[in-house]
Amino acid sequence: MLNKNVAELLNTQVNKEFYSAYLYLDFANFYEAKGLNGFANWYKIQAQEERDHALLFYQYLHNNNETVTLEAIAKPDVKMEGLIDPLKAGLAHEEYVTELIHTIYAAARDVNDFRTTQFLDWFVKEQGEEETNANDLITKMELFGSDPKGLYMLDNELGTRTYAAPSLTL
Ligand code: MG
Repeated sequence: MLNKNVAELLNTQVNKEFYSAYLYLDFANFYEAKGLNGFANWYKIQAQEERDHALLFYQYLHNNNETVTLEAIAKPDVKMEGLIDPLKAGLAHEEYVTELIHTIYAAARDVNDFRTTQFLDWFVKEQGEEETNANDLITKMELFGSDPKGLYMLDNELGTRTYAAPSLTL
């Protein structure tokens, strides 16, 4: 059995990761409507990754004989007008998710739950990568996004992203 607080935080994270998937699908939705299919592709794959994250938390809980409660997923709440808006909201969201992961990590560490901290190590690294990617997208958009040819090339670049399953397996 896991510590009750740690188990609750892990269960909440299942929902948070599904919310991330839903939020990124809404970003794809925004770009799709603007005709930027490459940006949409990027965020559809991002949404798939977030669903994978949710399933990893789900599986980790089950592997430790914990029950999982699936709560309602909140409606994506980011207002998007300019083309850079989802990118900036994406960075802010990833910074928020990093805090969530760190909070679970600290809770597990406080009760000497080394199994959970080891499980979360992958997510700590993953969050670093997510923030780097989000920052890079903003930088590229600021550099090239106001020029139609630059935007076209950036959209093509993001269109080449392909889905890869997470390197963490349980
Ligand atoms: Mg995630």
